[in-house]
Amino acid sequence: MPAQHEFDVVIVGAGIAGGALAVALSGSGFSIALVEPRPMTVEPLPREPGLQNFDARVSALTPKSITLLRQLGAWEDIAAYRHCPYQHMNVWDAEGTGRIEFDCSEVKVPALGHIVENRAIVNSLASRIVASSDIHCFNPDSVASCERDADGLVQVVLDSGQQLAAGLVVGADGALSGVREMFAFRTREWDYGHSALVCTVQVAESHQDTAWQRFLPTGPLAFLPLPGKQDEHYCSIVWSLQEPMVKEMLSLDTESFCATLSNSIEHALGRVLDASARFAFPLRQRHAVDYVQPGVALVGDAAHTIHPLAGQGINLGLQDVAVLAEELLLAQRRQLSPGRLDVLSRYQRRRKGENLLMMGAMDGFKRLFEESSLPVRWLRNAGMRGVAQLPALKQRLMRHAMGIE
Ligand SMILES: Cc1cc2nc3c(=O)[nH]c(=O)nc-3n(C[C@H](O)[C@H](O)[C@H](O)COP(=O)(O)OP(=O)(O)OC[C@H]3O[C@@H](n4cnc5c(N)ncnc54)[C@H](O)[C@@H]3O)c2cc1C
Repeated sequence: MPAQHEFDVVIVGAGIAGGALAVALSGSGFSIALVEPRPMTVEPLPREPGLQNFDARVSALTPKSITLLRQLGAWEDIAAYRHCPYQHMNVWDAEGTGRIEFDCSEVKVPALGHIVENRAIVNSLASRIVASSDIHCFNPDSVASCERDADGLVQVVLDSGQQLAAGLVVGADGALSGVREMFAFRTREWDYGHSALVCTVQVAESHQDTAWQRFLPTGPLAFLPLPGKQDEHYCSIVWSLQEPMVKEMLSLDTESFCATLSNSIEHALGRVLDASARFAFPLRQRHAVDYVQPGVALVGDAAHTIHPLAGQGINLGLQDVAVLAEELLLAQRRQLSPGRLDVLSRYQRRRKGENLLMMGAMDGFKRLFEESSLPVRWLRNAGMRGVAQLPALKQRLMRHAMGIE
């Protein structure tokens, strides 16, 4: 059956990765389709800081990700809305004396990163998308099936019954990617046996523009700074917990939950006064063995999901987007089809190693801090103190995590 619409690139999913890719390709001469089941209206967001006014999902964006968002024209809206730059980071081990502090002055940058609400990023990208004339949005709609035809085009059928044909389909449809499944991409994955509990909290004392992270034997707990107002201080928490504990923490009343949180972060920000609704996300490490096939590419969480302990997931996803867009634009200048395997393989070669490295490091950290045997505890505490005393090594680690090296 002939396709009703033909495009150079069909992007499946308008989360942060898919939305950013659409904006990055816009204006290049490619005809672009974007398919997203969530309504893509640009909602006015609440401006006043307040426990119920923050998105429970936030991201710690690195300077490199912010540079990309700025190039896409999306950072200005986010910055004008609200975000919290953090200048310091305090990390410590609940089982010992190991502690390490990072300060932006050590690497001569104004901030280590910015805490941004996910909906602010999606909203800002959506406003670019709806204003562009070359991104055709199929929304709300969803991909029902995809297959490659004999001419090398990918035929896409939407839930609405509409049919699209594309030189390239990009799966930006998240951790449970349907595109990945439909093209039988193999993955390596394992369950952490943890979920991440997230919510917004009000704390008694200023967060001092600092990201706080305490490694507990049951998993890391992070307090990420949010914008506040006079005498009102807010943080977003991400607490990676073993499954039985997640259920327990979700079932506590607010007062008991706040008391448990205050103790778990050792009252670093005084008492936790109040908490918003709590959500839990199951954590699973997943990495596609290949990111590309002829006519198909995966980006963001569709290609890799990573433990959130160092807040790197969407930072890696945005770099996938930057590299894929660069390779597609290069191919276009050479008059090569965007779905050619040699074009897409360049993207995979440039991204897979870096993603693997970060995923391996996060997995190693998680296992290291879960280990309760005395020699390992001693070693990791000594290691933290050691790094703290080696400025050159510490600066390299910081620059790498910030994506500036
Ligand atoms: C608790 C937690 C904290 C985190 N903190 C950080 C952090 O501080 N820093 C950081 O960098 N990362 C962080 N991450 C990771 C980050 O949130 C993810 O990497 C990021 O949201 C993935 O974005 P994405 O666009 O790839 O996928 P998603 O955000 O999952 O978007 C996928 C999109 O595809 C759409 N879709 C799904 N199915 C279909 C279909 N069939 N057809 C069409 N569209 C479809 C969905 O509606 C959605 O809009 C965190 C993750 C968790 C769980």
